[in-house]
Amino acid sequence: LQDQWQVNPTELVLGQELGSGQFGLVLEGTWRERKVAVKMMREECMSEDDFKEEAKVMMRLSHCKLVQLYGVCTQRSPLCLVFEFMDNGCLTDYLRARRGRLSPDQLLRMCLDVSEGMMYLESSNFIHRDLAARNCLVSKNNEVKVSDFGMTRFVFDDQYTSSQCSKFPVKWSAPEVIRYSKFSSKSDVWSFGVLMWEVYTEGRQPYEHQSNSEVVESLNKGLRLQKPRLAPRSMHILMEWCWKEKPDDRPSFGILLHEIGSLSDM
Ligand code: ADP
Repeated sequence: LQDQWQVNPTELVLGQELGSGQFGLVLEGTWRERKVAVKMMREECMSEDDFKEEAKVMMRLSHCKLVQLYGVCTQRSPLCLVFEFMDNGCLTDYLRARRGRLSPDQLLRMCLDVSEGMMYLESSNFIHRDLAARNCLVSKNNEVKVSDFGMTRFVFDDQYTSSQCSKFPVKWSAPEVIRYSKFSSKSDVWSFGVLMWEVYTEGRQPYEHQSNSEVVESLNKGLRLQKPRLAPRSMHILMEWCWKEKPDDRPSFGILLHEIGSLSDM
């Protein structure tokens, strides 16, 4: 790793626990006068050497709608990732806590924020692979940012990485991902359609009463999630466009950003 991305352990002050994720504990912390979130990576959960290489790529990705990775602390075990702190936590919880109180403008703005972050990833030829409201975070001033991009590639737990397995995010995955693990920016677009649905249902679980295999079966029949009550017609048309069977028939994030932007007055 380049030195500028090495976080010196003596500069990192760890605080209270924020939660725990797939890779281990997430702690609040302070680094160079800045509030940060520190992910402690449990070694047995990830391939560390592969990750150190990839961290260099991830740290070069920098955009106001992505949760910034500030650096990696490799001198200490476990490996720690130091991220921009997001005061309002994950988007799913944020939506659920504010049910009935979010304006049409705010809901649209959330979709716009995510499409901006995703357009940046798309233009950087970087595939997210696990886009969902649970992997977006909300800042102090209620901006939504995309997080956890590319991270599933380093998970050892095959319960999560094989589409046949229980933890695989089938309900967010494009058909070609479920069938042959074919990830692309267009499979991210499918997931983005589900994320828009999550926003407009104020954080409901997609296909709530269906098992993963039932979802696969309905998708194969051409069935899709229904229009959320709060979603304008125009937003539902965009969702359905994201859920086209063939990846080439789906819009790019560039197009989505343009379309969503034209629906907002900002
Ligand atoms: P993982 O991706 O490893 O499963 P998460 O990203 O879900 O872990 O993190 C677990 C919890 O930690 C989240 O639900 C959130 O509350 C908190 N968290 C994660 N990253 C941040 C951050 N950058 N700022 C504030 N809280 C965070």
